[in-house]
Amino acid sequence: MRFTHQTLPQRVVFAAGESPAAVAAEVAAHGASRAMLIASDREKELADPIAGTIPLVLRHEEVVMHVPVEVAGRARRAAGDAGADILVSVGGGSTTGLAKAVALTTGLPIVAVPTTYAGSEATDVWGLTEGETKTTGVDARVLPASVVYDAALLTTLPGELTVASGLNALAHCVDSMWGPRADPIDRALAQEGIRALATGLPAVAGDPTGLTGIEQTLYGAYLAAVAFASAGSGMHHKICHVLGGMFNLPHAQTHAVVLPYVLAFNAPHAPEAEARVARAFGADTANAGLAALRRTLDAPRALRDLGMPEDGIARALQPITRAIPADNPAPVTDENLAALLKAAWAGTPID
Ligand code: NAD
Repeated sequence: MRFTHQTLPQRVVFAAGESPAAVAAEVAAHGASRAMLIASDREKELADPIAGTIPLVLRHEEVVMHVPVEVAGRARRAAGDAGADILVSVGGGSTTGLAKAVALTTGLPIVAVPTTYAGSEATDVWGLTEGETKTTGVDARVLPASVVYDAALLTTLPGELTVASGLNALAHCVDSMWGPRADPIDRALAQEGIRALATGLPAVAGDPTGLTGIEQTLYGAYLAAVAFASAGSGMHHKICHVLGGMFNLPHAQTHAVVLPYVLAFNAPHAPEAEARVARAFGADTANAGLAALRRTLDAPRALRDLGMPEDGIARALQPITRAIPADNPAPVTDENLAALLKAAWAGTPID
């Protein structure tokens, strides 16, 4: 065995129902006294109790999915004008993404309080969009210094978003099995992440305000993101990135639809991943485990339902082929990739 694994430095706090005190403690631990709170107007009520416990100098509400450069520019100027010395983000991946964009140019530390299962809070990856082009990059400055997971903040997440966002986290785990830098530590974290998500998500579906199920799902989502940050984007994320950018598809839902097709495509060529994923689900095969979870959750099925045009299959083929890592477990050809995309577009059952 020979590999090099890098662990990202970050404090992680689980504190169900106690984020106001836990965030205040993190801000104090970083020696900060001028906090900029980033939370969209849709997440205002979740952020209000936290606003009351931190040394607040500014609330910033302009949050837009995929972080347009103009939006990032306004947030950076606001941080500078207010003399902020720490960023506190309360919201989903879009909100965390804006805090990262500010940290990228200012170097300010972030205390991230996630309200979805997207996992951006545990990665050093930033994303910015200019026109229709989304650029991503890796920078140590954007990794939140602290993460506070408060399950109570996810009791308001609508059921459909819980399912899509939870399956987005599951996709981080699956791609971590064969991403370009995947190592045995990533695979172990991802396997435990799948186990936690496969337990937590049905619990949340059955009891959307139950903190135990949400916390289990958050734990899985965190492990998923840690594994993914180390392993890097594999075939699944490359497909979703191209489709999302070309057709402006909703992020989490696109992942939820595409995942079973990529797993079925790669699993026969990746026996260790297949065995780990199957074991994590407690199922005979990886595909059967995912299919059973998706049935329980009534997961979204087809890209056409998300607004992707049918002729998009042909248009996306070359950009996706160029993006997929060369060492993907299954050999990729125009024919088998087109068949995969067609099936995901139509929602064709896999078996
Ligand atoms: P999002 O942040 O856009 O949130 C989706 C919707 O849910 C929004 O309307 C939001 O207001 C609402 N919402 C969020 N939390 C809620 C709650 N608790 N209750 C009620 N409503 C709530 O979506 P997302 O899926 O969390 O994040 C997607 C973005 O994150 C994409 O831009 C994606 O590229 C990025 N992302 C980045 C990384 C990374 O490592 N950099 C990882 C994952 C996702």
